[in-house]
Amino acid sequence: MYKNLILRKGKDESLKRFHPWVFSGAVHHIEGEPEEGEVVRVLDSEERFVAVGHWQIGSIAVRVLSFEDISIDACFWEQALSAAYTMRCAIGVAENPQNDTFRLVHGEGDHLPGLIIDVYGKTAVMQAHSVGMHVEREHIADALLKVTNGVIQNIYYKSETTLPFKAGLGQENGFIRGGAPDNQATENGLKFYIDWLKGQKTGFFVDQRDNRSLLEQYSKNRSVLNMFCYTGGFSVYAMRGGAKLVHSVDSSAKAVELVNQNIELNFPGDKRHQAFAEDAFKYLDDMGDRYDLIILDPPAFAKHRDALRHALKGYTRLNAKAFEKIQPGGILFTFSCSQVVTKDNFRMAVFTAAAQSGRRVRILHQLHQPADHPINIYHPEGEYLKGLVLYVE
Ligand code: SAH
Repeated sequence: MYKNLILRKGKDESLKRFHPWVFSGAVHHIEGEPEEGEVVRVLDSEERFVAVGHWQIGSIAVRVLSFEDISIDACFWEQALSAAYTMRCAIGVAENPQNDTFRLVHGEGDHLPGLIIDVYGKTAVMQAHSVGMHVEREHIADALLKVTNGVIQNIYYKSETTLPFKAGLGQENGFIRGGAPDNQATENGLKFYIDWLKGQKTGFFVDQRDNRSLLEQYSKNRSVLNMFCYTGGFSVYAMRGGAKLVHSVDSSAKAVELVNQNIELNFPGDKRHQAFAEDAFKYLDDMGDRYDLIILDPPAFAKHRDALRHALKGYTRLNAKAFEKIQPGGILFTFSCSQVVTKDNFRMAVFTAAAQSGRRVRILHQLHQPADHPINIYHPEGEYLKGLVLYVE
């Protein structure tokens, strides 16, 4: 039987609205001494059942797995992963011959706080952000192989940098099921090498799939700059869309190597593409006015709320440079993936940049994360990616 955690009076309100976290300040006491990662039952101050979830030391004390009084066993994992997989089939990203790159589990968005699973072909890359999910990794792996109709054969567990350091788990990255020498995946019919061993996040930014498709539609005969290109997702789509030239820029030499490989994989010998390892601000200062389609997809400028003001200034400075240089009639795809930066914050930062540049700017599209990164309506914090497509006169 699970240990009980009793909440302070009135601290069950947000849980009753299905918000999936219990903050440490809401805890009155715990019966017994659970180990980090153990499942606990959460009770209100009158000791009525509220939820069941993973206990952890830190500001989020419990990550809720269910609002029903159930056991978190093999059956639970099979049901949860099966529901996630069925949804990915329903929205057309899984079991689709044109696409085998998708997010299967998006933490709170799939009622599984602390767990991320991205799928690349036959390999799933699994990332635990909580001790509880780390403890459960073997059960999750078993369920994953069982519910995905043989699609997933290999599981790479990549939690070295995402688990709380203080928990001292000493986790190393590696395959926990199968092992795949082949690291190619397909997104909307385009091929990509995925570096799950050393790459950022799970090896690829799956969340830009729909936005890359939109970019493709705007690429014909344009001169494209893909700033912060990483593995070159946007560049490959721009090439297929018929761009006149595509320049990819990233400060990381490794990223430049990856984008070149991915272009070669899809468009061997095509001379329209070139990649440069350079700092964004320096490149934008020196580049002249040759581009009429620019993508700005920087890393999160603010990881915490304290850094918000500084981050907004960063977005303004970056976008101002693009507005100054883009050709008349140019199109700017600009993004923020900082969770603490709201849609309005971001829009204001970009608005300020537009005003500084004195250009006339119109919003063509407002972009967000795709359907395989669902937002639990009771956990609005899960909305992180926002973008604007702007027409610059
Ligand atoms: N657009 C990419 C994801 C971008 S991730 C995609 O669709 O996959 C952010 C990238 O910005 C990283 O590859 C990182 O190396 C790069 N980066 C970080 N700081 C930078 C800087 N100052 N100048 C140029 N690139 C930078």
